[in-house]
Amino acid sequence: MVDAAGDGLLPPLATRAGAERPGARLNGARATPRDLMEGTDAMGDRKPLQRVLLKLSGEAFSDADVKGGIDPTIVRRVAEEVAALVQNEGTEVAIVVGGGNIFRGTSPGAAGMDRSSADHMGMLATVINALALQDAIEKAGVQTRVQTAISMQELAEPYIRRRAVRHLEKGRVVIFAAGLGAPYFTTDTTAAQRALEIGADAILKGTKVDGVYDRDPALHDDATRYDEIDFMAVLNQGLRVMDATAISLCMDNDLPIVVFDMLTSGNITRVVTGEPVGTLVHTA
Ligand code: UDP
Repeated sequence: MVDAAGDGLLPPLATRAGAERPGARLNGARATPRDLMEGTDAMGDRKPLQRVLLKLSGEAFSDADVKGGIDPTIVRRVAEEVAALVQNEGTEVAIVVGGGNIFRGTSPGAAGMDRSSADHMGMLATVINALALQDAIEKAGVQTRVQTAISMQELAEPYIRRRAVRHLEKGRVVIFAAGLGAPYFTTDTTAAQRALEIGADAILKGTKVDGVYDRDPALHDDATRYDEIDFMAVLNQGLRVMDATAISLCMDNDLPIVVFDMLTSGNITRVVTGEPVGTLVHTA
C-alpha cells in the first residue's frame, strides 16, 4: 500500500493543521503577539516557529534596476537563506511565489485581453519562478517539491494538501505555484489560503521595505514604521501589506503575518527565531 505521498507504508499523517500554534498560550495566559512570534515555551526558552509560509512576490526574483525577469544571483541568495533556515532551525517551510516580475493579469501587456486569459498567463508566470527557486534551493542542499494549482504533471505535482504536509514533515521545502488556479485572485490570497490549509504558524511576507509604514517611505521622509499593527487598522488605513482578501482571510482565522525586508541577509531566520524584525500584523 502506498500513501498519498507515494512514499510507501506510513503512519497516519500527523498534520498540524488546527493544532495550537507554538507560544499561543503561556502559563495559561494569552501570549502577546511578540511571544507568539518568539515561540517562547513554558520554560521561557525561545524556540523557532515550526512551520511557516513564506510569500515571495515576483519582485523578490529580479533586480530592482532591471525591474523584471529573473536574476540568478538574487534567486540563489534567497534560496540559500531558505535552505539555512531548514538546515539550522529545522523549520518547515512552504513558499508561495508570485509572478509579477514576468506577468500580471493587470499588466499593460494584458491590455484588451480577456481578464481570465490574462490571469492564466500570470499564474503560469508563477510557475516559472517556482522552477527557478526549486533549482536554486536544491543546489543549496535541501529537497523540494513544486505543487501547482493547475495540473502540469510533467514538471510538478498537483496541489494535494496532505501530500504537501507530508513533504514538510520530511523536511522538504514545498513551493506552491499557479496561485489558487483561479482568475481574479492574487498570490497574496493564495499565501493566506495555503497557510491556513497546511496549519502554518505565520505568513512571512518578504518585501523590499523593512515593514509596514503609515505612509509610503519612498515618498515621505517622515513615514513611521509600525512594530505591530492589527488587521482592522491595516484595512481601515488602506495600508499596502497584502490585498484586502488576503488580510480578511488572515483576520478571520487569526493567522499572523510578519512583513520584513528580504534584502537583508539572514532576515528570514531572524523572523523565525523571534528577533524583532519587520512588522507583525495580528489580531487586536
Ligand atoms: N493570479 C491569478 N490567480 C491566483 C494567483 C495569481 O489569476 O490565484 C494571476 C494574476 O494575474 C496575478 C498574477 O497571477 O496578477 C501574478 O500573481 P501576483 O500578482 O499575485 O504576483 P506578485 O505580485 O506576488 O509578484
